[in-house]
Amino acid sequence: MKKLELHWQILIGMLAGLLFGFIALQLEWQQFVADWIKPLGTIFVKLLKLIAVPLIVASLIKGISDLKDISKFKNIGVRTILIYIGTTIFAITLGLLLVNILQPGDGISQETVDKLTNTYANSSGVTAKISEASKQKSSGPLQFIVDMVPDNAVSAMSDNKAMLQVIFFTIFLGISMLLIGEKKAKPLKDFFDGLNDAILKMVDLIMLVSPYAVFALLANVVVTSGDPDILLALLKYAGTVVIGLLLMIVFYSILVSVFTKKNPLWFLKELSPAQLLAFSTSSSAATLPVTMERVEEHLGVDKEVSSFVLPVGATINMDGTSLYQAVAAVFAMQVLWPEGLSFGNQISIVLTALLASIGSAAVPGAGMVMLVIVLESIGFPKELYPVALALIFAVDRPLDMLRTTINVTGDATVSMIVAKSVGKLGKPKPKEWDDHYDEVK
Ligand code: ASP
Repeated sequence: MKKLELHWQILIGMLAGLLFGFIALQLEWQQFVADWIKPLGTIFVKLLKLIAVPLIVASLIKGISDLKDISKFKNIGVRTILIYIGTTIFAITLGLLLVNILQPGDGISQETVDKLTNTYANSSGVTAKISEASKQKSSGPLQFIVDMVPDNAVSAMSDNKAMLQVIFFTIFLGISMLLIGEKKAKPLKDFFDGLNDAILKMVDLIMLVSPYAVFALLANVVVTSGDPDILLALLKYAGTVVIGLLLMIVFYSILVSVFTKKNPLWFLKELSPAQLLAFSTSSSAATLPVTMERVEEHLGVDKEVSSFVLPVGATINMDGTSLYQAVAAVFAMQVLWPEGLSFGNQISIVLTALLASIGSAAVPGAGMVMLVIVLESIGFPKELYPVALALIFAVDRPLDMLRTTINVTGDATVSMIVAKSVGKLGKPKPKEWDDHYDEVK
């Protein structure tokens, strides 16, 4: 696979994984896949997560300490948050429009509801999501800000879910480094610069096995997927989400071309390895190191911008997840609780889905947990929660893969726009040896 571009290698790995998965399903090799194929994918995802925290710390410190002037950072911060909120509101509104126009709840018979309820309502997947949601919502409105401030830097860094805490500590440290002056900060800055380069090299090394890893990840997705009849019954709902997510790609392309004057096809091509990984892993957090590498080296966004915008985006900006929550909530109402479909409730969905996407963890299936919180906000009958989740559980995995791809694309789009607006969008500087084994040796 020497000279083939990385995204083609990954794509071939994915297709081979799908094909192998279908063959394994026919031959009933599920156990073989679980024992011998799946671990390769798991190790790959672990490797990516392993480097996420050190990469965020090193690159954010480098980004801030290169700034020279703190007011610039405020500028980047405010723009980032405002644009993130804007794209998320757009995504939710688009989801609501589509689900109201296409009415995916119409075609679902009582028989399908019963079948899904029997299969999934008491499954551990559904009950775990409901109990996790009740844990999250028992907190007050400012809790997420309180949670952002760590009381122990080391324990924050040892917890992949505490990404915002790590970002908070790192920004604090970076700003303080600016304040003590260049000379005193130099040893620390040199240390983090070196760490940053070494970790980016680790990303390159890990990516060398990505075509094989996505093979394993997708083969496993296929052999663990549900009953095809059920999937078919939910086709209209899944189709609505998919149309919405595809329209988001069009939306991002327009944003990139209007605000940065770059060709959107070039943007999508250069970002594609990160998008394909997001699709294969269903986790924007695991994809983050690759997103950072693509955006900085292949799209030309300066580290001063990307080192802040991308890690923050991975945690608080989830356009795909928000769109999905809007569609799923209204779909569940169309099937189970049509009397709740008021205009006021739809507005409530916009607000809660926005907050929920900020609060969602960037891990597989997180969107379903937050959906319970959205349903709660509109007074959806409690006893129907398991049925509502059962309705969407069967197709959640493929939709999770797609919405994660959109989440990552949204973060990259916003980093391009913010970079352009502060004069930090430069020429891409891909390293020649990047994506090929022979060149790394
Ligand atoms: N898996 C998604 C992500 O990591 C979150 C979700 O929608 O479940 O971005």
